[in-house]
Amino acid sequence: MNFNLQHSIKACQGEFIGNSTDFLVEHISIDSRSMQNGTNTLFFALKGQNHDAHHYIEELISKGVRYFVVEFIPENCQGKANFILVKNTTKALQETAKYYRSLFQFPVIGITGSNGKTIVKEWLNFLLSPDYTTVRSPKSFNSQVGVPLSIFGINENHNLGIFEAGISQKNEMQALAEIIQPKIGVFTNLGSAHDEGFANWEEKIAEKSALFQSCEVVVLEKNEAIETGILCSKITWSLEDKNATIFAEIKSQKEGFSQIQIHYQNETFTIEIPFLDTISIKNSLSCLGVLLYLNMEIATIQERMKNLYPIEIRLQAKKGINNCVLIDDSYSSDYQSLKMALDFLEQQKNHSKKTIILSDIFQSGLPVATLYQKVAVILQNNKIDRIITIGETISQHLKELPNVISFPNATDFLQQFNTQSFQNEAILIKGARSFNFDEIVVLLEEKKHETVLEINLDAISHNLNFYKSKVNPTTKIMVMVKAFGYGNGGFEIAKLLEHHKVDYLGVAFADEGIELRKAGITTPIMVLNPENSSFHAMIAYDLEPEIYSITGLQAFLKLAKERNISHYPIHIKLDTGMHRLGFEPHLMDELKGLLKNNPFVRVKSIFSHLAASDDTSFDTFTKNQIARFDAMYSDLVSSINYQPIRHILNTSGIFNYPEYQMEMVRLGIGLYGIGNSEQELQVLENVSTLKSVISQIRTVLPEESIGYSRKFMVTKKMQVATIPIGYADGIRRAWGNQKGFVVINNQKAAILGNICMDMLMVDVTQINCKPGDEVIIFGYSPKVTEIATTIGTIPYEVLTGISQRVKRIFYKN
Ligand SMILES: *Cc1c(COP(=O)(O)O)cnc(C)c1O
Repeated sequence: MNFNLQHSIKACQGEFIGNSTDFLVEHISIDSRSMQNGTNTLFFALKGQNHDAHHYIEELISKGVRYFVVEFIPENCQGKANFILVKNTTKALQETAKYYRSLFQFPVIGITGSNGKTIVKEWLNFLLSPDYTTVRSPKSFNSQVGVPLSIFGINENHNLGIFEAGISQKNEMQALAEIIQPKIGVFTNLGSAHDEGFANWEEKIAEKSALFQSCEVVVLEKNEAIETGILCSKITWSLEDKNATIFAEIKSQKEGFSQIQIHYQNETFTIEIPFLDTISIKNSLSCLGVLLYLNMEIATIQERMKNLYPIEIRLQAKKGINNCVLIDDSYSSDYQSLKMALDFLEQQKNHSKKTIILSDIFQSGLPVATLYQKVAVILQNNKIDRIITIGETISQHLKELPNVISFPNATDFLQQFNTQSFQNEAILIKGARSFNFDEIVVLLEEKKHETVLEINLDAISHNLNFYKSKVNPTTKIMVMVKAFGYGNGGFEIAKLLEHHKVDYLGVAFADEGIELRKAGITTPIMVLNPENSSFHAMIAYDLEPEIYSITGLQAFLKLAKERNISHYPIHIKLDTGMHRLGFEPHLMDELKGLLKNNPFVRVKSIFSHLAASDDTSFDTFTKNQIARFDAMYSDLVSSINYQPIRHILNTSGIFNYPEYQMEMVRLGIGLYGIGNSEQELQVLENVSTLKSVISQIRTVLPEESIGYSRKFMVTKKMQVATIPIGYADGIRRAWGNQKGFVVINNQKAAILGNICMDMLMVDVTQINCKPGDEVIIFGYSPKVTEIATTIGTIPYEVLTGISQRVKRIFYKN
């Protein structure tokens, strides 16, 4: 991609403030963390509800970026770079994309619908790429920002575009339609009615159909209500209605394949796809409609559809062998997605060493030499330590780089592969499907334990932003990442929070803080429970103690004096009613005496903890705690002669008592998607999903029993599935004996009998399932809060109780 800056200025009607508009834009970025940002970058400083990329401009300038599209020029940046000043940077990004799209005339397929967009897009790409040089949205880039970014992937050699558009509110599609300008539309399906952004079903149809204004044809499932709103010609398909353009009948399903008889115009033929479920069959029919419209030969369609494959929609960071982190992107290899995967690698790595295993790259639309030149440049920019190329072409073109090891194919690599050569590094595995990189992933992945806790990093960002919106922009935020991020993962979450520029992290013990420092976290860290024996280490790792007793303070002062340290940051905890840790009122004089004119420490903050912020029936008590805090604070400050910051609110405090936010708040459980009230839960996004798989299914007859102590007696013939997760993984026994359930294929399956140490059994009599199917232990349903209520505990305990033997997987949407 490249275009002259003047075009962008004109497209977004911006005001230029800087030295020279004579600039060739070769890279568009919205992500301050990307190592691809450089002198050829045009950076759009987007503003989200609570996220503002203007904060990163200064840092980006120091990294060499010189051109920015902004809504205002931050202080300190004036005169240091070139700025295009606009009203709204997201709009400006869209207008620039619209301009860029207008430079290309080839046909574009535009896909929308409630589900299946990404799968249909990836499948169409697979089905059409032997005949076209395609460009498509990477992953599920289909939003107001994702669509413009996808468009910048086009270059002059592409001759077919496949882009998806997703909306969540009224009036969003128009902008996307103008950018994509599709000739062929695909409406995947309309899904259930729960989308909150739309008043009703009709509104949702009308809004989504707005994508198709420029279309010659739209492919969709036969449906009168939707069809009437679409004015161009239509190719409809149906599994029931013979009047559809394409009438499909499922003839048989065996050995993993479905045979589907197709009636289209005057022809009848059979296609075979390697899926049994209705959703996949429907998605394949959407694809079929497009292929028939493009006049693909029936024989070719049959051949290619047989090879359709499951799509891994998102990038995942997995635990690898020998303490490695794996980024598994083993299904695609185009230049756009390589750039994205490198950014993800940069965000996920907790090792300084980076390795990439990369196959030949297809569908770039660029001449081979140019392509690999570009690839070499981004690999260098990303400071990849070791590059393992697999494939004849890439090996040929990258052989000049100093740090390349080449193999002609994956089999050769696997034969020569030595597990010991991968240690403490972040490894990106990126290859076209035909290279079978999944086998490499299997080998490099840490021993397969079939139970995983998946953590949605985007949901964490969302929840952080929600609580930020509850307090003033100037109020500082400390996020509690104690107990391994409430059981979710320490380093990975801390790294994300550091990016969001939270002011403090809070941990329970010094060890937790040391782990974070070793992994490269530089945000200030407060330790809630420092033991005197850990003070040495805390100073070495720049950790700030909570001081809650006279003896603790004396010990710390003694050490600081011995080591000749001055003004070491400490935090003073006051007990105002929780009666756990902290100075009580009668100790204030002694405390004041020790702190007065003390050169060894500096009190960074004074704080207290509310005992009942989640329960407004204790409102008087809570306000009383706050009043005591105010009094004790004033007393202390009068003798130390400076004003440390104050904080008292935890998650429920932020929600129920934002007026007492003072200078900082301490966010905990809310970040992880759990609120203490129903209203709070509704605005939070689910972060953690605990998943397992079915190990085995058996038929059990009446008068038999299930599990230890014969707690469940069978009364009629039933199907019972065994799941490899038990109380040693943190699933409490109280959740067994039909009090609890798991979810399999969207249906509830009651837990039968006692939960065992490593397994539990569930009733799947009414559920269509097989061994290997996914089982949700908690997530959207059942929710952690629901489990907690049923077994008489609090969600904190359920979440932090998940054993460390359960593998954590972090992902972004
Ligand atoms: C854990 C903790 C918090 C956070 O509490 P949540 O209820 O999870 O928000 C805040 N302050 C202190 C002192 C804590 O120990």
